[in-house]
Amino acid sequence: MKTIINTLLTTIILVFVVMACQPKKTEQADSEIQQKVNAYASFELKADLNRLSANEKKMIPILIEAADIMNEIFWKQTYGDKESLMAQITDPSVKQFVEINYGPWERLAANQSFVEGIGPKFPGAQFYPADMTKEEFEESDAPDKTSLYTMIRRGKDGKLISIPYHTFFNEEVTRAADLIRQAAELAEDEGLKRYLTLRADALLNDDYYPSDIAWMEMKTNNIDFVIGPIENYEDALFGYKAAYEGFVLVKDQEWSSKLARFAALLPTLQLTLPVPDEYKKEVPGSDSDLGVYEALYYAGDCNSGSKTIAINLPNDERVQIEKGSRKLQLKNSMRAKFEKILLPISAELIHPDQQKHIGFDAFFENVMFHEVSHGLGIKNTITGMGSVRKALSEQYSPIEEAKADILGLYLVSQLAEMGELGEKDLMDNYVTFIAGIFRSVRFGATSSHGKGNMLQFNYFLENKAFTRDETTGHYTINFDQMKVAVNDLAALILTLQGDGNYQGVKDLMSEKGVVPEVLQKDLDRINSLGIPKDIVFKQGVSVLGL
Ligand code: ZN
Repeated sequence: MKTIINTLLTTIILVFVVMACQPKKTEQADSEIQQKVNAYASFELKADLNRLSANEKKMIPILIEAADIMNEIFWKQTYGDKESLMAQITDPSVKQFVEINYGPWERLAANQSFVEGIGPKFPGAQFYPADMTKEEFEESDAPDKTSLYTMIRRGKDGKLISIPYHTFFNEEVTRAADLIRQAAELAEDEGLKRYLTLRADALLNDDYYPSDIAWMEMKTNNIDFVIGPIENYEDALFGYKAAYEGFVLVKDQEWSSKLARFAALLPTLQLTLPVPDEYKKEVPGSDSDLGVYEALYYAGDCNSGSKTIAINLPNDERVQIEKGSRKLQLKNSMRAKFEKILLPISAELIHPDQQKHIGFDAFFENVMFHEVSHGLGIKNTITGMGSVRKALSEQYSPIEEAKADILGLYLVSQLAEMGELGEKDLMDNYVTFIAGIFRSVRFGATSSHGKGNMLQFNYFLENKAFTRDETTGHYTINFDQMKVAVNDLAALILTLQGDGNYQGVKDLMSEKGVVPEVLQKDLDRINSLGIPKDIVFKQGVSVLGL
């Protein structure tokens, strides 16, 4: 009896202790989770739709509704039953963070669970049974088990079976296909009508090839629509399975025609490169399919966690060989990252006198000219070592990214001198470029882009293209030195590439492709200021005023 009373007492005391601790614990968790939510700056996804026809305006809400179905499917692919998860959460900020992450795992923090009682994320998400081992999958004789478009489940006998997406998600894809057909009826552009019709078919049979071809052939459309199972990063177990997503986009006709004009100028610009003739003897291709778009809606995979600002599609290599691929730059999404992330970083690091040179137009030009510049320079070594890519091996990507950055800046100055860019202050591009480096290496410089950025940063620093004030930590860009440094670094990179000088590139990158101590201190400082890490969109029909 005494033991029972004791146990009871202990239990009662424990209950009280737990109850007393609970609110405090929740409060603490609240603020922590709220901070995580705040790290995603909210941005309204809008665009000027005045140029669209009445029918095009009617199509957009229908396409958004179809894209929304990708949200439903992606939830099932990544977590399972969204409703039951949401029902067990009471804290509004936790709910909000679940919406941002499409599940209870934090995408920007190695998928750590942030909802009590929920364990780590299964690398295979919901594409495979959670109790499946890699060995079991490899030994299975389920047909199409490695297909991009099958879900793996257990049959009645417990053995692995594969179910095609269009069967597994039949109810959802049927609704989406109906909506896409409605939109196709309204389409005035023949290419778009054909693509939408074929895309609706593809959702119902998982054969995306004909619609991918039709998408590449479509050239005069104002509206674009990316929908279906596309990227395979969500399958962290094997990378076989594609996750559903949808983008509703409108083409920026002004920028798209600008790009076409610049592409036509590339052969002339190639001849002006600051290197001896043999390093610029190739005629640059102007066949790159590069377009500028405003995003109206993100759904599913692409809307989870970090937001992409450029799309490169299709992924099907058969289509790439036949038709190439298309790169879509999403201008308003870039503006979101520029305003919410780059501007506050610049305010800390760029000298107050030069703040006026930081602008979105310059930022966007730098990004676009980076893309165009991949086509400039030299693709084959002049030393008989085959392609530059092969000769430079794993060193190729970082140096190629640095090349595109530097030649991008070089192009801006050339085009400005040719009077192609109207009234323009090159200083805006320089200052905004340096500010952009701070943003892109903020959380490390291990990617090819990051290493390329650091090569430029260190090269510029050594050549006094900018200086750093020891006391304030502000950076000041020196126009004349910057211009010289851009030319010199362009010449250095183009020569290393043309020579296929693997060791030269390797030495240069190991010396300069790293974050210097002084910059790391600056980055640590800005990372302690609560500047957003990424974006969450306010989007949809009402935001668009439709
Ligand atoms: Zn690039």
